[in-house]
Order: sequence, then C-alpha cells, then structure tokens
Amino acid sequence: MHNKSVAELSRELESGKISSVELTREFLGRLKKEDEQLNSFISITEEQALADAHAADEQRAAGRATPWTGVPFAHKDIFCTNGVATTCGSKMLANFVPPYDATVTANFRKAGAVCLGKTNMDEFAMGSSTESSYFGATTNPWGLSKGEKRVPGGSSGGSAAAVAARLVPAATATDTGGSIRQPAALCGVTGLKPTYGRVSRYGMIAFASSLDQGGTIARSAEDNALMLNVMAGFDPKDSTSIDREVPDYTATLNEPLKGLRIGLPKEYFTGNLSAAMEEQVRSAIREYEKLGATVKEVSLPHADLAIAAYYVIAPAEASANLSRFDGARYGYRCEDPKDLLDMYTRTRAEGFGAEVKRRILVGTYALSAGYFDAYYLKAQKVRRLIQQDFINAFSEVDVLMSPTTPSPAFIQGEKTSDPVTMYLEDVFTIAINLAGVPAMSVPAGFVDGLPVGLQIIGDYFSEARLLNAAHQFQQVTDWHQREPQ
Ligand code: GLN
Repeated sequence: MHNKSVAELSRELESGKISSVELTREFLGRLKKEDEQLNSFISITEEQALADAHAADEQRAAGRATPWTGVPFAHKDIFCTNGVATTCGSKMLANFVPPYDATVTANFRKAGAVCLGKTNMDEFAMGSSTESSYFGATTNPWGLSKGEKRVPGGSSGGSAAAVAARLVPAATATDTGGSIRQPAALCGVTGLKPTYGRVSRYGMIAFASSLDQGGTIARSAEDNALMLNVMAGFDPKDSTSIDREVPDYTATLNEPLKGLRIGLPKEYFTGNLSAAMEEQVRSAIREYEKLGATVKEVSLPHADLAIAAYYVIAPAEASANLSRFDGARYGYRCEDPKDLLDMYTRTRAEGFGAEVKRRILVGTYALSAGYFDAYYLKAQKVRRLIQQDFINAFSEVDVLMSPTTPSPAFIQGEKTSDPVTMYLEDVFTIAINLAGVPAMSVPAGFVDGLPVGLQIIGDYFSEARLLNAAHQFQQVTDWHQREPQ
C-alpha cells in the first residue's frame, strides 16, 4: 500500500478494497518504525488520525466522498492545526497549540483527508538542509544504505524525506526561496511552488510575507495536481490572495506537449553546476524534444543579483514578522523575568536559534534609518528588474527549464559553518520567488546514486501547464518511481 500514489489509494478506497482505518493503521505503523532513522516528523497525531479515518469511512459509505476522503498525508509544521502543536521547528513555538486552522489545513479537513502528523523543517523555514530544526536534523533516505547521512534539503526537508521514504504519499510544504523545490530535488520527489497569491497564507506562519507560498510535495505530478485542487483558491483572510478561478488541475494532465516552447536560461547552465548534473538535466530536456517540444536558449540577465536581493528583502520582512515572538501572549517565555525588557530580551535570546537571529540582525540593519535606501529600497528595485526578466522570457517561450540545484544532497554538517555556501543552494530557485511565478521540481535522474531535479518554471498562474508538462515526462520516464533502499 505504501508504494501507491494518492490517485491509486483514492481509487482503492472508492472501490471498497480497503478502508481508511486499515490504510491509516498501515501508514502509522510504518511511520513509527521507519522515522526513527529519518526524523522527518516533529509530531505524529495517531489518535486524531484514526478518528478522522473512521469519519472518512462513514463519509464514503454515505456517498459523500471527495478524491481525498480517507487518504493519509502530512502537514509541514508551519501550517496551524487547531488543537495540535505547531512549532515551525523552533523552541519559540515548541509549546504552541493553535486555537484555529490555517486555510490550507481547513481545506484538507473539509476534503476528508487524514493528517498523520506534522513534518520537520528548518527553524522558521530559514535554511536549505533541515539541520536548524530545534527538534533535530532530518536525514535524507537516499544515501542511508551506504551508511551516509545526507541532508534532505530544506526548509521542507521533513515533507520531502517522508514522501521519498513512503511514510506518507503526500505532504504540504512552503517555499520562500526554494524550500519546496530544493528538498524535492534532493529527495527524488515532485514538488510545486504555485504563483504567489494562488494558495492562502492565512495560518501559515510568516517568514517573508511577500515571498512565502504554500505548495505541494508528492511522488507524481498527478498527485501534486490533486493536492493543488484542494489548496488553491481565493481567501478573504489573506490580503494578498488572488481572486481568480481555480481550474481542475487534473483535467489537462494528458494534453500532448507537441509545440511546447521551452526556454533554457543560459545563466542557469553555468558556474558551479557539475558536468554530471548538467548531463542529467540536458537528457531530460531531450525527452521533451521527443515529446514534440522545441528548445531555445533565453536570457535572464539579472540572474546573478537574485541571491543578494533576496538576502536583503527576506531578512527585512522576517525581522518585522518575528517581532511578534516576545513572550507576552503565546510561545516560549523565559523564566523569572526581572521586568518587561528582561522578558523580551531573554525570551528572544533563548527562544530563537542562531540562523534566525542572524536573519533578524541582518533585516533590522537593512531597514534601519540611514541604510533603508542603500539596502532595502535598492533590493526592491533589483527585484523589479528580475521580475521583468521573467516577463520578457515568457513573451518568447511557454516554460523555462533548468536544474533545480547546482549539486545533489550533501553530507550533514558540510555547510553549517558557512552560511553563504548554504545560501548558494538556492541559486536557481530564489529568483522565481522574487518574481512570484510558479515552478516545479521533477525527478530527472541520478548522480552518484543521488537524485537530480529538473526545474520547470512557468508564467503567472500556469500551474496547469507545469503539471501537464511534468505528468507527460513521468509517462515516459520512471525516475519519480525509484525508491531509496
Ligand atoms: N533557503 C532559503 C532561506 O534560507 C529559502 C528558504 C525557504 O524557501 N523557506 O531563506
């Protein structure tokens, strides 16, 4: 059962071959056993899951099922879950039990899906390796059979590792600079970051509000489409949510790709990309040519400014967003504060980890009087130029393709001493968030036994086309079905 896709499990439940209670028991048993090696979950909500599975079986029996009714999945621990701890990977929120659901959480609940627990992540989604979690690092299932402990990527490393290891068929995730696509690539699974504004941010703990976007991780493009069907849509509770019709993302998966115009951004095929990685990506693109697509080189001339602009804008927004964690209303509070100032300062000194503090310091500096024009305002102008690069590219081609990451999963601890080498993990993903366009990572081969991701980038609101392109590729390749030992 654990090797089946969401689409297949849904059909088995519908035919009555298996009940949601049986399925949920099987996944919970596997999860509790296998996750000791991976640490991909922060919490497992066994009792709630079994109760939801019972309810789902009743819904099916009553003929009121959606495709998700009774299907197990997991939420990244950044989405608020009513009555269930939501930590964001931080000591600051280790004791936080939200009194409400995020819109994404509520949508899955309404669809009848069965949440098995909350997945591990970098603290406050800041990172590319899931090593900064207060609850310990997550290990990538790839490499374990050789005795290697590799990172699953981050910040949604728990979701990606859990899906790769078949602990859940699907998991929610978020992406501010690459946090869905980079872990999906490093774990050999399929992930989608939708257009900014497509999925509600209500109840999704904020890191950098103008960049954060909720999205999907599963093994196949089809399962990503099933997830997005539940997640996408206008939400009056999120002021940046966009009121625009939501298509059925599964309806166009089988469209032929003949005539699809693919652009290869030349700036994404240089620098620190290894020859072996490049060969895997180019051979994936040749598959697309066989499917009838045309390929040409395009340019994103401001690509090399993306990391610098992001590491001003994202920390600036983070420094403002994280000012709410002060020990006054919820979350961690230091012991025996002497006075109010002592409570604020010690709570924040003790509650936040090193990377989060680094971002708050950088962001506060960039926003401070006298530096605002030189850093924050300048970065926003660069952001506009980066956005224009994508607008120009999409006047010539339908999608862009590139590697998702410059290299495969690295060994734990390899990049923790130098933050800048960690930041460079996102060199091919970050500009997409600055522009706000959607992008996917799709399994496209292996280098030294480790998965390689193909990134497919689309114009605003072209999620259906991206999913179609990924699905067609997955009809002629089986990289997404490879299972780590
Ligand atoms: N790795 C990037 C960062 O650390 C992006 C993280 C994310 O997308 N949440 O900020």
